[in-house]
Amino acid sequence: MVVVGAGPAGLFAAGYLRCRGFEVVVVDRNPEPGGFLIFGVLEKHIDKEGVRRGVEELRRLGVVFRLNTVVGRDVLLGDLIGESDAVLIATGTWRSRRLGIPGSELPQVMPAMEWIVWYHMWRYGYRGDRPPVGERVVVVGGGLTAVDAVIVARWLGAREVHLVYRRTREYAPAGPRGFREAEEAGAVVHELVQPVEYIGEAGRLVAVRLQRMRLEPSPGGGRPRPVPVPGEYLVLEADMVLEAVGLVPTPPFDGGSYGIRLRPDGTIDVDEYKRTTREPVFAAGDVAHGPSLIGPAAKSGLEAARAIEAYLAGRLGWRTS
Ligand SMILES: Cc1cc2nc3c(=O)[nH]c(=O)nc-3n(C[C@H](O)[C@H](O)[C@H](O)COP(=O)(O)OP(=O)(O)OC[C@H]3O[C@@H](n4cnc5c(N)ncnc54)[C@H](O)[C@@H]3O)c2cc1C
Repeated sequence: MVVVGAGPAGLFAAGYLRCRGFEVVVVDRNPEPGGFLIFGVLEKHIDKEGVRRGVEELRRLGVVFRLNTVVGRDVLLGDLIGESDAVLIATGTWRSRRLGIPGSELPQVMPAMEWIVWYHMWRYGYRGDRPPVGERVVVVGGGLTAVDAVIVARWLGAREVHLVYRRTREYAPAGPRGFREAEEAGAVVHELVQPVEYIGEAGRLVAVRLQRMRLEPSPGGGRPRPVPVPGEYLVLEADMVLEAVGLVPTPPFDGGSYGIRLRPDGTIDVDEYKRTTREPVFAAGDVAHGPSLIGPAAKSGLEAARAIEAYLAGRLGWRTS
């Protein structure tokens, strides 16, 4: 069977299925397995050598890794489906959502996740060019990627880093703890503000215009909604912006989606057994349930692996809708 994507979901599934006696090939676009475990999460948050030892253990058990291979470009998903008794898609969320406000086209306005991946590619010797960093960096967002972007910007030599978030830290995905970590790394935190324009001069970013926000109760419950305070703006000087405002699921499709249905948010539609709408394709991890954390992604991969085992043994049929 084939696993597409060597993040925690794909690796846990591969390990389980190999231990149950199946031939497993893992295909990944990167030069090293691990997904965000290697190229996203910072070393201060995860034992990367432990991850690498785990991957070596999988290799020793007989899992085959086909790296530097983009499914959808170097090999087609349709061909993998045709050649395999089962396929697991675990390709995560490898594209940043963008704000798309005026000035976004300035070259100093970059997506934070891709920039952090670039940093790790450079740090581990897979890229020769160090990612650029400004003197005065504005990071936009309130999740783990935003906090990590602050930390990496400081490591790379940014003199000042400002973290801007449209709610307050209590309602941020990274929570008060993440914001404290950003402050400990030297960030100045600005809550209840939202960028509305990146201001450039002669093609270079010079400042960010921020709209003041306030919170109002959300009609459906849950986190309060940020709404603009009319007429209230402030301007922050900046020579670089890193946008960390969400990640988008990236199924390995090339033009065709092979009958694999997506939900409105772009995640792959799976049922309780991680079956997609196309037999024999399963999906797990962030590409199936949206951006999450290492634990839920690994759990989802394991659940898919158990379902694949049952399917290949003839104990589980295919979904009907
Ligand atoms: C900067 C950052 C920091 C984070 N920090 C934490 C943290 O501290 N703690 C925590 O619990 N979680 C953290 N997370 C979240 C966590 O890393 C993810 O939720 C988790 O890795 C998702 O696992 P996954 O297996 O679904 O996908 P991923 O880890 O994203 O792996 C997907 C794999 O699929 C491959 N792939 C994608 N498209 C293709 C294709 N077309 N062809 C071939 N291969 C492809 C990718 O190369 C990648 O190896 C962080 C995420 C980021 C971005």
